[in-house]
Amino acid sequence: MLLEQRQTAVDNKTVFISCIVPVFNEEAVVASFVETLQTRLRTLTSRFEIILVDDGSRDHTVQRILQLPKSSHIKLLGLSRNFGKEVALTAGLEHCSGDVAILMDADFQHPLDTLPVFLSRWAEGYDMVYGLRQDRESESYLKRNFARLFYWLMQKMTKIDIPNNAGDFRLLDRKIVEALQQFPERTRFMKGLYAWVGFKKIGVPFEVKDRAAGKSSWRFSKLTELAITGITSFSDIPLRVWGVVGFVISLIALIYAIYIVTITLIYGADLPGFPTLVVAIMFLGGIQLLSVGILGEYIARIFTEVKQRPKYLLQCKEGFDE
Ligand code: UDP
Ligand code: MG
Repeated sequence: MLLEQRQTAVDNKTVFISCIVPVFNEEAVVASFVETLQTRLRTLTSRFEIILVDDGSRDHTVQRILQLPKSSHIKLLGLSRNFGKEVALTAGLEHCSGDVAILMDADFQHPLDTLPVFLSRWAEGYDMVYGLRQDRESESYLKRNFARLFYWLMQKMTKIDIPNNAGDFRLLDRKIVEALQQFPERTRFMKGLYAWVGFKKIGVPFEVKDRAAGKSSWRFSKLTELAITGITSFSDIPLRVWGVVGFVISLIALIYAIYIVTITLIYGADLPGFPTLVVAIMFLGGIQLLSVGILGEYIARIFTEVKQRPKYLLQCKEGFDE
């Protein structure tokens, strides 16, 4: 949509909004969430779709969705198993047809009151409007600091600028949706991709609510995995640093060798130095294993990419017209 038409479309309530909501084991909230969202969207526009992407839920989420009063606005994509939120979002983006796509969580943590603000920002000409969470107080001390460390690392190691405190709650213009569809990669780190695509973007502060019901499915191990994916798919520094480390260690070894030879020539041979030897062997062994491990991280990702498997499989598709 042309820039000049955006404001008119928002004022006339004709902008076509696609809301993409990934759901995983959300039987407790999904029905009321969809009802609330639908009511809210009706006040903003006459054309919208709510795409629920079921990420292989093991509870009654899908039944709850299918039991909702029939509406041409509600669409369901069922993935064949749990692929993770990043892939679920990708599936939603690939099936949406709106002028704008809005990504939201199903647990009421993303306040619906922010949607009009998103739209007005978009009308002003921003192609991506992302929510900035105001406080992470509700999160544990560990999670908060881990997040801070991660953003700091990302900042240092990659050329892309990922805003701290910005999550998946955001509005994307059609052209970004199409840009994201061109990404063939299987290991998808959405926050990185949003930053990578560029375009005009702006943050809008919002307050994270408490989860309405059900429980968060994020565990520390999953977050760590996501962080490693983030770094390895956007930075090659972990791969290249070992060249420098190896060079420095070799240099130290050479200097030490010269020193030993000189000492031996001057004072003759003696044989102390067993602890030095053990420490040196263990230190180098450790460094070598670490660097091989990091190589492995990258090779594993290359492996996933070259297999060229589909990003996800669908087991059901409801409400989409062919
Ligand atoms: N989610 C998903 N697949 C997963 C995990 C989560 O689609 O494997 C969805 C979940 O249903 C919710 C959103 O992603 O709509 C955020 O998840 P959650 O609330 O568990 O995470 P948190 O808000 O604690 O970061
Ligand atoms: Mg949540």
